[in-house]
Amino acid sequence: MVIIMNPDATDENIKEVIAAVEGAGLKAKVMEGASQKIVGVIGDKTRLASVPIDAMAGVEQSVAISKSYKLASREFHPMASVIDVAGVKIGGGTPVVMAGPCAVESKEQLFEAADIVKAAGAQFLRGGAYKPRTSPYSFQGLEEKGLEYLAEARERTGLRIVTEVTTVEAIDRVAHYADMLQVGARNMQNFGLLKEVGKCGKPVLLKRGLAATLDEWLNAAEYIMNAGNPNVVFCERGIRTYETYTRNTLDLSAVAAIKHLSHLPIIVDPSHGTGKWRMVKPMAFAAIAAGADGLMMEVHPNPAKALSDGPQSLTPENYQEVMRGVQKLAVFMKEENIVPMDI
Ligand code: PEP
Ligand code: MN
Repeated sequence: MVIIMNPDATDENIKEVIAAVEGAGLKAKVMEGASQKIVGVIGDKTRLASVPIDAMAGVEQSVAISKSYKLASREFHPMASVIDVAGVKIGGGTPVVMAGPCAVESKEQLFEAADIVKAAGAQFLRGGAYKPRTSPYSFQGLEEKGLEYLAEARERTGLRIVTEVTTVEAIDRVAHYADMLQVGARNMQNFGLLKEVGKCGKPVLLKRGLAATLDEWLNAAEYIMNAGNPNVVFCERGIRTYETYTRNTLDLSAVAAIKHLSHLPIIVDPSHGTGKWRMVKPMAFAAIAAGADGLMMEVHPNPAKALSDGPQSLTPENYQEVMRGVQKLAVFMKEENIVPMDI
């Protein structure tokens, strides 16, 4: 439930409301609404049954949250959240770009990719050191060596690092090197992993599960937030449908839906979303037009030689071309005050 305070409620009124909530054994969190403060209540609200919250000074009304997720919901937190990742803001109105190879293959490959990514204007370098591959015989990643290369690439370029963590045991190691932890599609409902990344202190990029509904995805974010980590960013990466031409079906409507249902930012990955490099550019443009807070794209110095996901990886030239359009589109939308969605 949320307690909406009057616009003229005093700090003292808010303190009394918090004391009443905490006195009933629940947690309270104060948030700024558009014109008034809101006190979010976490826990079993039936414990407040005998507390006359609506009659307290400064209270406008209390409203029950209808969803199974709370901390991630717009009802609980009406203002859009901006997630700060080592100084880069996600959700602040300027789209961020996370780009790089599917997997870290070698120091040379990663540095080459990092230089390309940096030169064309991304803020993050991506690259998997722990790869969740369908076949156990496929390249599994360089593991800690890969993390070391990523950290070196950060030193070299100033790019922030986002990389996937696939197991609870690897969380501390990945968090030591990375600026942002990625939870991949295959682990979106690995609740043990979600709870532990919720305790790690680093922002989390939560990819949508292969066949996850929006409700399941939002509840996955709730697991992370409920464990103490409010810094979650969604990443739409396509879902499995009956279509086989594309690797996945990129659900761009998820951008609009998540913006309505949640205050957390959402970015789009048109590389995994389509599986085809030719489709990355149009889907990247469409994602920005739909109001996505950023993009994740796979770029490889030589996609034909990539150890994973070559067919969906952009060449350096194609990547530059995509970035040129993305940047122009973002500037145009800002200057012309084109707001994709009224929440
Ligand atoms: C990735 O981004 O490297 C990846 C494996 O993506 P997904 O989890 O979306 O399949
Ligand atoms: Mn990949």
